Amino acid sequence: MADEVNRDLRLEGLRKRYPNGFVAVENLDLVVPSGSFFALLGPSGCGKTTTLRMVAGLEDATKGTISIGDTDITHEKPYRRPVNTVFQNYALFPHLTIMENVEFGLKRKGVKETQVPVHEILALTELEAQANKKPAQLSGGQQQRVALARALINRPEVLLLDEPLGALDMKLRRSMQIELKRIQSEVGITFVHVTHDQEEAMTMADFVAVMNAGEIEQLGSPYELYTNPRTTFVANFLGRTNLIRGRVLGREGSGADEMVKVDMYGTTVSIKAGRVHTTSPDVWIGIRPEKVIIQPQDKPMDGLGAHFSEAVVSDRNYTGVSTDYTLTMPWGQNLVCFEQNTGRRGGLVTVGTKVDVLWRPEFAFLLDSSQDAEAGIGED
Ligand code: ADP
Ligand code: MG
Repeated sequence: MADEVNRDLRLEGLRKRYPNGFVAVENLDLVVPSGSFFALLGPSGCGKTTTLRMVAGLEDATKGTISIGDTDITHEKPYRRPVNTVFQNYALFPHLTIMENVEFGLKRKGVKETQVPVHEILALTELEAQANKKPAQLSGGQQQRVALARALINRPEVLLLDEPLGALDMKLRRSMQIELKRIQSEVGITFVHVTHDQEEAMTMADFVAVMNAGEIEQLGSPYELYTNPRTTFVANFLGRTNLIRGRVLGREGSGADEMVKVDMYGTTVSIKAGRVHTTSPDVWIGIRPEKVIIQPQDKPMDGLGAHFSEAVVSDRNYTGVSTDYTLTMPWGQNLVCFEQNTGRRGGLVTVGTKVDVLWRPEFAFLLDSSQDAEAGIGED
């Protein structure tokens, strides 16, 4: 059946060297599954827009190929690609009504019967009541929807969205995220959503590719990327993480059961081989702050896991729903612990309290200690 033909968007060995010699994209490999909501996430300047512009045909690829299914579109003219783009600045025609803005793409293609498709798209984007207004009479969120409607009217196979919510304030941004996801699942078109906002990528996308300095660092589901990052950059860019020095002692078992034993300041912990992303004996042991459990030393500690004593609460930040504790470990390093304020403890732990620290090694990951522990911190 024709509609079972694979229509994944595939970028292979893609490179972009600008005329001034700057290499913005380097050997980029990426498969965007057909019909998925895909996020390209990375700090400002890492090459996201350059990548999208190559897919759209607005920029020539210096090397590599771009294909959709079996069709190579690397050198295809922009208007002949089954691809459309929504930019952050909506680029609406100010003198045309919303309906005319949306209709424009169909008319240009010579489509005569525009009424039905235009009304379908206006309904999908909840713009029917605005159809006869001009763009200037609309709010930012509504204008963004018009830009989306205009890009969808030609039913592209792939829709590229370059920081489409970047101009909206936080509250509107959150509601538009839900809207965009609903629209994508209704139309079933492949969405490639570019953003530097990790929370936006995590909450919206089926798959996220984390991009850094012109390359893809890791690709996976939000859950895979967050719980099992392969580099310090990915670990830090997707939320907070504790990175603790360790030394590999050896391996045990084989296949899916293979474990790597690591010494961490005198405590031996076993970590699944599938969460080990280095062959070096010196490692970073990564532990997410919400996986760290603390208990004042005069209270019994329950639960299984790797265990430390003699840590001290050195700072505390109460946020209502949770509390962020800073723990000074016996070896002098500060770790972060996020605790939900469930009330189980009765109250908060006060600064200066000696605590036991517990964490489940099945959630830890091992990274190469030659990587910068601060990579990806404070970047946007
Ligand atoms: P992002 O969208 O991730 O912020 P861009 O793809 O816009 O990143 O840019 C990636 C890098 O390429 C940046 O360092 C930027 O300054 C550079 N760059 C973008 N356009 C050009 C150009 N036309 N000529 C030279 N360098 C460019
Ligand atoms: Mg950009």
